[in-house]
Amino acid sequence: MSNPTIAIVGSGPIGSTYARLLVEQVPNARVLMFEAGPQLTGIAGESVRNIPDPAEKARAREMSQGPQAGAYRESLGIPAATVTEGMFTARQGTHLLDFGGAGSAHAPSFPAAAAATNVGGQGAHWTCATPSPAFSEKVPFIADDEWDGLIEEAKQLLHVHSAAFADSSVGEAIRSLLDEEFGAELPDGYGVGTLPVAGDPQPDGSVRWAGADVVLGPLIDKDSPLSKQFELRDLTLVRRVELDGHRVTGVTVEDLRTGKTSFVAADIVVVAADAFRSPQLLWASGVRPKALGHYLTEHPVVISTVALDAEKMRRFATEQDLDAELARRAQNPADPVAAVNRIPFSEPEHPFSVQVMYSESTPFPMEPGTPYSENRWGYVNMGYGMRKHPRYEDAVTFDDNEPDYRGFPNMSIEYALTDRENAEIAEATERLRRAGKALGVFVAEPRLMPNGSSLHYQGTMRMGQTNDGASVADPWSRVWGYENLVVGGNALIPTATAMNPTLMSVAIAVRGARKVAAELGSAIV
Ligand code: FAD
Repeated sequence: MSNPTIAIVGSGPIGSTYARLLVEQVPNARVLMFEAGPQLTGIAGESVRNIPDPAEKARAREMSQGPQAGAYRESLGIPAATVTEGMFTARQGTHLLDFGGAGSAHAPSFPAAAAATNVGGQGAHWTCATPSPAFSEKVPFIADDEWDGLIEEAKQLLHVHSAAFADSSVGEAIRSLLDEEFGAELPDGYGVGTLPVAGDPQPDGSVRWAGADVVLGPLIDKDSPLSKQFELRDLTLVRRVELDGHRVTGVTVEDLRTGKTSFVAADIVVVAADAFRSPQLLWASGVRPKALGHYLTEHPVVISTVALDAEKMRRFATEQDLDAELARRAQNPADPVAAVNRIPFSEPEHPFSVQVMYSESTPFPMEPGTPYSENRWGYVNMGYGMRKHPRYEDAVTFDDNEPDYRGFPNMSIEYALTDRENAEIAEATERLRRAGKALGVFVAEPRLMPNGSSLHYQGTMRMGQTNDGASVADPWSRVWGYENLVVGGNALIPTATAMNPTLMSVAIAVRGARKVAAELGSAIV
């Protein structure tokens, strides 16, 4: 096909993966990316963690918060959401789906469900943890050698590196203590280690965190010829994917600055608008496979905070090491580079993903004078991420008769933890207690976070090997029965996972993009 047009809905890491690969691989392709939210910084899709000025950073976060963001919300004429006492609030940069006002989603069993609405999507706010899926987390019908190649390409696109903070002695001491406690129980290659993260280490020891900007790469570099093939339209809401039978013809978009609606013709449409709004858009467009919105999973999360015990830590690190760590963190107080350790998922030994983040203060205020309120050796915030096993009945559904605040069929989320998950949560909590004891003293006891807190929503457009009603997309991410309609994001993940999902979803998108490129006449052989 000559000069094909590809329309991409959503500018997060996944939409950006499609844009990058299709521009690079298909000669003369024109890629139009539509994003409902605003661009936050001069560099499209940049992580807000890179903004040095705290006021600027707060402003960028507020701009991403859709219906709950005060000044920005008012400028778009969206009526104020009612914030009621006792309701959940979202992580900065995100907004709750069930925000309690008119047009709010209904999600009492999944109350912390949240989204980001801005160029770069949640990828402008993420923590950048990029572990690889392992064992049964992987997609069972993609062969291992192909999968390894996809993960490798995904790592390059996201600028993943594993050596971050490996030279921190405090981090190493924490690893040594955890290894003493758990090492003998863990299989080779899956022991206590550092967490791979997406970002570029800088000469001064800081990290420039990766967002959709690094995935887009040359597409947003005005000096690159590839940028001529790419156009990003922010504040442009895709209202419908338009169809002629089972072929997509383009998208109907609304310019949120002017309120004008128009049709944009496209040869391929890629919907990468997150795990709730992508299925909602398909539903609104009349694309309604049985599995759409179903098999919702995330990661139940148990968290706690531990004051590091000086005596234990001094077995592996010196007071001078601690001073050096604190000096390094002081260089960038708004976003200090921390020692992040982990124990990865392994099967059957350790079906959990553990993150251990060092910090010199607790994430909550402590009364001066209370035990461990001033702890020279600092604290760790520890989280166990667990599996949610996919079930049809855990689902987001859509109501044609009740519009949400954007005029889309409103969402309701039904979700429940089963005995299987509760058993894994109990086991993880027990291990979290052991980890805490190995490192010091709990200043916040282990607690299970409300459903939706992980921000890792999966399964609502799951991929499958056959069109048996239990999946939405084929093994190359095309909606079953619609060859030129491609979907992307964590929603494609069909398995129960414990790891942070973005790297896996980028790998799945790489496979989907290669297929589209091949069919459009890829220049890559
Ligand atoms: P998103 O990044 O959510 O982007 C989707 C975009 O689509 C949004 O910008 C949205 O506005 C847009 N959109 C929606 N509907 C429409 C429409 N109709 N028209 C136009 N545009 C539309 N993951 C990890 O793997 N590791 C981590 O450490 C990690 N930490 C996180 C920390 C935080 C605070 C948050 C919020 C997320 C974190 N995540 C993490 C999750 C990670 O950010 C997501 O997995 C990733 O961003 C998903 O990419 P995406 O492109 O599929 O969707």
